[in-house]
Amino acid sequence: SEFVKEEFSHGMLRTKTVEDILTPLKDCFMLPSSSVLDFSTMSEIMQSGYTRVPIYEEERSNIVEILYVKDLALVDPEDCTPMTTITKFYNHPLHFVFNDTKLDAMLEEFKKGNSHMAIVQKVNNEGEGDPFYEVLGLVTLEDVIEEIIKSE
Ligand code: ATP
Ligand code: ATP
Repeated sequence: SEFVKEEFSHGMLRTKTVEDILTPLKDCFMLPSSSVLDFSTMSEIMQSGYTRVPIYEEERSNIVEILYVKDLALVDPEDCTPMTTITKFYNHPLHFVFNDTKLDAMLEEFKKGNSHMAIVQKVNNEGEGDPFYEVLGLVTLEDVIEEIIKSE
């Protein structure tokens, strides 16, 4: 849109990074891949109010799939369907970005792709061991737009 095109030239989008605006991992509503889509889990998802729910294996830092609330449309809580049955069926792609990704690049990515959420990770090379990818949180198109509006 014209609005976004205009704001694209805004300096803030070139200097701020996804790390500045992400939702930290500790605040993310996520579920383990071992969960079962019974009445209690489905209610919890609905009550969270989020459209996209990262699914992790073992640890919250190990995000392996993403569940869209709309995937639940045909799920009957009585069946107690395993989470992985649904996530493997829809198999939505996960998008990872590095913490230093600038907001203009992130906005372009969101415009190109069909997903409006990305998992933010950084290369952690503090400490003795080999460097590893550390998940910091998630960022959505909404977070970028909010930043544009704030800077008005
Ligand atoms: P939509 O607006 O498409 O229905 P939504 O309301 O679930 O989706 P967004 O509008 O994309 O989510 O994002 C709103 C805010 O919530 C953003 O700050 C985003 O980082 C955050 N957010 C999105 N999903 C989650 C989640 N699963 N857990 C915690 N925060 C989330
Ligand atoms: P090797 O060490 O054998 O070269 P690798 O560790 O580089 O492999 P990758 O398949 O590149 O293995 O993936 C490593 C991690 O990087 C995974 O967590 C993966 O999800 C993530 N990843 C994949 N693509 C991207 C990307 N475009 N940007 C950021 N992270 C990515």
